[in-house]
Amino acid sequence: MREKQIIVCDIDDVLSKFNESWIELYNKKANDDLCIEQITEWKIINFVKEEWKSKIFTDEIIYSPNFYFNVPLKEYAKEFVEWTDQYFDLLLVSAPLFENKFNNTTLSDKAEWIKVNFPNYDIRKFIPCYFKSYLKSYIRMDDRPKNFVGEAEHKILLDRPWNHDDCEENEYIKNFGLIRKNNLLEVKDYLQNLL
Ligand SMILES: [Mg+2]
Repeated sequence: MREKQIIVCDIDDVLSKFNESWIELYNKKANDDLCIEQITEWKIINFVKEEWKSKIFTDEIIYSPNFYFNVPLKEYAKEFVEWTDQYFDLLLVSAPLFENKFNNTTLSDKAEWIKVNFPNYDIRKFIPCYFKSYLKSYIRMDDRPKNFVGEAEHKILLDRPWNHDDCEENEYIKNFGLIRKNNLLEVKDYLQNLL
């Protein structure tokens, strides 16, 4: 019998301000004024200028030097990880991006980012994984409804503009029994009641 229950916790836009950073850099390079509230679907590509659609997954933005490493934490993320890791087996899971012609990856940047931002977290519990449905857990936390495929008793969706009404994700939003939380403090309250 395990002493602690497992939480599979996404990183981007759950613990970090990933899309905010992405949009900030895109706006600067593309001379656009996109804001986070406008991203009402998962596919960010639907909201960028036509000439930028082919570039946002390249070294212009996501693979530009140190991009990932400089993504800021969300409010309360540091305290949340410290607290949660004491009472649960917290597995940080994130998709390393490999799919680009430069054959780059965000994997090493992500691992380094975790080590710097959560110095007490055991990096050996970091799981780079795109197909999160392979992972069974007691609790799962994510901002993408589709990522809740697979087994979890408590499916906690972090509220973001892109997870309210997206025709490709609505089936998951409506039928997966997702528990929507606005921020990490609300998640902590929820988790505390499970102890
Ligand atoms: Mg995410």
